[in-house]
Amino acid sequence: KSVMVQKKVVILGGGESGVGAAILAKSKGFAVFLSDKAILQDKYRDILIREGIEFEHGGHTEARVMDADIVIKSPGIPDKAPLVAALYKKGVQVVSEIEFASWYTSAKLIGITGSNGKTTTTLLTYHILKTAGLNVGLAGNIGDSFAWQVAEKQFDYYVLEISSFQLDNIERFRPDVAVLLNITPDHLDRYNYQFQNYVNSKFNIIQNQTENDTFIYFEDSEVILDELVRRDVRSQRLPVSLKGPLPKGGFLADSLLQIILKDSTFSIPFADLPVKGPHNAINALAAILVAQAVGIDQESIREGLRTFVNAPHRLEQVAILDGVTYVNDSKATNVDSVYYALGSFEQPVVLIAGGVDKGNDYSQIEDLVRQKVKALIILTPDFEKLEKYFKGIVGQIYITQDIQEAVSQARAWAQPGDVVLLSPACASFDLFKNYEDRGEKFKQAVRQLV
Ligand code: ADP
Repeated sequence: KSVMVQKKVVILGGGESGVGAAILAKSKGFAVFLSDKAILQDKYRDILIREGIEFEHGGHTEARVMDADIVIKSPGIPDKAPLVAALYKKGVQVVSEIEFASWYTSAKLIGITGSNGKTTTTLLTYHILKTAGLNVGLAGNIGDSFAWQVAEKQFDYYVLEISSFQLDNIERFRPDVAVLLNITPDHLDRYNYQFQNYVNSKFNIIQNQTENDTFIYFEDSEVILDELVRRDVRSQRLPVSLKGPLPKGGFLADSLLQIILKDSTFSIPFADLPVKGPHNAINALAAILVAQAVGIDQESIREGLRTFVNAPHRLEQVAILDGVTYVNDSKATNVDSVYYALGSFEQPVVLIAGGVDKGNDYSQIEDLVRQKVKALIILTPDFEKLEKYFKGIVGQIYITQDIQEAVSQARAWAQPGDVVLLSPACASFDLFKNYEDRGEKFKQAVRQLV
């Protein structure tokens, strides 16, 4: 008689995705060991204990990790971490949680990636599918772990928000519908400062697609178009554009979101949607194309579009005081987001920006700032780069490290009809816990004005 040898899965990282992967691996009969360099959150530690899953935290037992048949690596751990480098060198299979979970579900997968707009597009797509009555789950870089849901739920569809880090360790992952919203420089520290490495990672989303799959992408992105020329794409391609009519795909023209497919057309006034700004036209067009690709009827799509509520901190209107609109776009942690945020307003803007610079190049927003920004408030101890760039471009600049002071100064400079916009172009870690904390403090500061 043969003896079944249990395969050893080691999970690196005990956050939401790692713990989810551990639960799925255990349910599939693997010998599971989870290892985290840092101390686990109580809730995750308690779950591992309850599930009888072996783990260590506060350091890795190298021999135990190196002995794995399969390693599931959390997206936060870089390839250059010594332990990970050693695993690659030994030839151990290292996969992401997304990859691992995809082995164990037959649900239709919708994978959404891009440098910006992932969360908005994922939530909107999920909302449309759910409104239409599909049995659909939401996972990936958002909310509950994909692996965990695969272990415990039975969905027919998943809408997955997928970051480049999750795409770095893909082998067979094959979304039925893939969306690529844009590729602009971000996270280059994880890609040897080679933009092409980051582009390759994003394009992993289509590497396993076949003729029956759909690939929705942003046609106005030169980076994406250049890369498409280089690649042999097997899936059905559906472009999205803001530059007017396309023979096939989705586009914005005459203030209408319009879709043209082989056997159907669809249109809706962009103004009917609760999300604003040109970037959200891209996101909405992508979501509509996904909905059509999975066969949802037009009336349900309209209903879903109209009833969507976006996540906070993304061009979120906070208040209108004395005719001045206060908008929280704390999630704008890179220059491209600010470009689209400024493009969303016709009115003069008092802009609050600054934070941890990720190698920003402000030339992309220089013209828009010239046209729209009447005053700039720089909110960070490292104000020099922003101040130097925009001195002479913006009439008035104020520097502070206090968000209440920033908001008060903005109020003093704003006239009725203006917009006060927090859209930092930078990460938040200099003065805040994270972008959510920054957005909440901004909202509090605005409420203090009343
Ligand atoms: P992500 O999850 O990719 O970070 P979000 O949907 O949370 O994206 O949006 C983050 C910020 O990016 C928003 O505040 C908005 O200003 C900007 N943004 C949203 N969609 C797009 C897009 N399609 N292209 C460029 N910028 C966008």
